[in-house]
Amino acid sequence: MVRIAVDLNRCQGYAQCAFLAPEVFAMHGEEALLYDPEADEAQGEKLAQAAAACPVQAVVVDAVDASAEAVPGDR
Ligand code: SF4
Repeated sequence: MVRIAVDLNRCQGYAQCAFLAPEVFAMHGEEALLYDPEADEAQGEKLAQAAAACPVQAVVVDAVDASAEAVPGDR
């Protein structure tokens, strides 16, 4: 399982994530983003791409098994 967090305050509804990982992210209307906070491991690569593609770095992907700490880049 891969845990996902999206900072919806930051999200601007660009839908890059929904485009790259449609199994996990979906746009609801023009701006609301829906997502599965506990995605399947098989989506890992797509999720990494989606996180990287988000123009505002709102997507944080944190594999639960890996004890690595996901630090969402302090600005
Ligand atoms: S790519 Fe980023 S800004 Fe765009 S919908 Fe996804 S989380 Fe929101």
